[in-house]
Amino acid sequence: MAKIGVYGGTFNPPHLGHILAAREFQRVLDLDLLLFVPVYLPPHKKLPPDTPDATRRLELLRLATEDVPFALVDDLEFRRAGASYTVETLRALRERYPRDQLYLCMGTDMLLSFDSWYHPKEICSLAQVVMAHRADAEESALEEYAGTFKKRYGKAPIFIPNDFIEISSTTVRRLLILGGAADDLDSKVYGRILDLGLYGTGRNRKHLPFDQLKQESLQLHNESRVNHVVGCSETAVALAKCHGANVEDAARAGILHDVTKALSGAEQLHLCRTHGIIVDDFLKTHTKLLHAPTAAAVADHVFGENEAVCQAIRWHTSGRANMTTLEKIIYVADYMEPNRDFPGVEELRRLAYSDLDAALLLGLEMTRDHLAQQGAPMGKDSMEAMAFLRQGKDVP
Ligand code: FE
Ligand code: FE
Repeated sequence: MAKIGVYGGTFNPPHLGHILAAREFQRVLDLDLLLFVPVYLPPHKKLPPDTPDATRRLELLRLATEDVPFALVDDLEFRRAGASYTVETLRALRERYPRDQLYLCMGTDMLLSFDSWYHPKEICSLAQVVMAHRADAEESALEEYAGTFKKRYGKAPIFIPNDFIEISSTTVRRLLILGGAADDLDSKVYGRILDLGLYGTGRNRKHLPFDQLKQESLQLHNESRVNHVVGCSETAVALAKCHGANVEDAARAGILHDVTKALSGAEQLHLCRTHGIIVDDFLKTHTKLLHAPTAAAVADHVFGENEAVCQAIRWHTSGRANMTTLEKIIYVADYMEPNRDFPGVEELRRLAYSDLDAALLLGLEMTRDHLAQQGAPMGKDSMEAMAFLRQGKDVP
């Protein structure tokens, strides 16, 4: 009796996290064979825009797995076409391997939705369910889940700690556009994606008209941040009109100011390497602030924005001494856009139109007080920005 793993997913694109997880499944379960079964059409969610066609997706998965000795790509869901149901795949595999033990390998994201899968009970009778979870997951929560699972489906899942599986394809797709995906992809896969311009990598994003810039950049955000960046852009336009700044630049800086915000600290550091950003000790320990320099680099290298726009993005979290009007506008707009709600925001909104410097200083002071409450220090650039404003100096 052979042990056969079945690893399903969209693999869109297949990345190193998938391969490392596969190696771990093989090692822990002592698998004789691991089948990568790419999902043709997920039943519950749409494939994201810029997903390559089926042939290309298969080709990338074959490239990604060709050096993994125990792995095979099985295109049975592609041949079946239509919505891909795991239970149908397992029925087919059971027929093909009547005497062998099947292990259905998946990540914790699947775990959350398993109850809503098509025929979950039959799935559990056809294969042993194996779930990879983050190494720091709480043991008691897993035990509780295993208990409920067993009661419902007759057999508890096998849990395997595995941090690699948490790399998400969504993030890799973003990194392909923003720069910094090379670390997460097999070099052959990465090269092929770039050669063919897949996942939107072949599109020229430089100097786009505003509507297109908006559309392209909003795709790089988590859904929850979209209203904020649109609000910031619209507020920046209103402030630019009020204070005589370049309205187009204000709109563009506003829409791009948080373009890398969806990335984790580690991914921000990848981007810093890609774009040659020097990270000082303060930024190394305050990776939340890195999205300002990385977004500025992306605005420059990916979107071809002008210097004024890039600098406004660069200083939007910290401020600095002697800021340009556009830099002040983006800092303040980010703070007071209509989705913001905190004590003092009304005063900031009032000041922003009558005295931009006073609004900027108030924003900096509120940030300082907020940081102080958390026992966190304020960065040097922000301190200099406050000192500069208090001396009453301005851009010559
Ligand atoms: Fe920000
Ligand atoms: Fe923001």
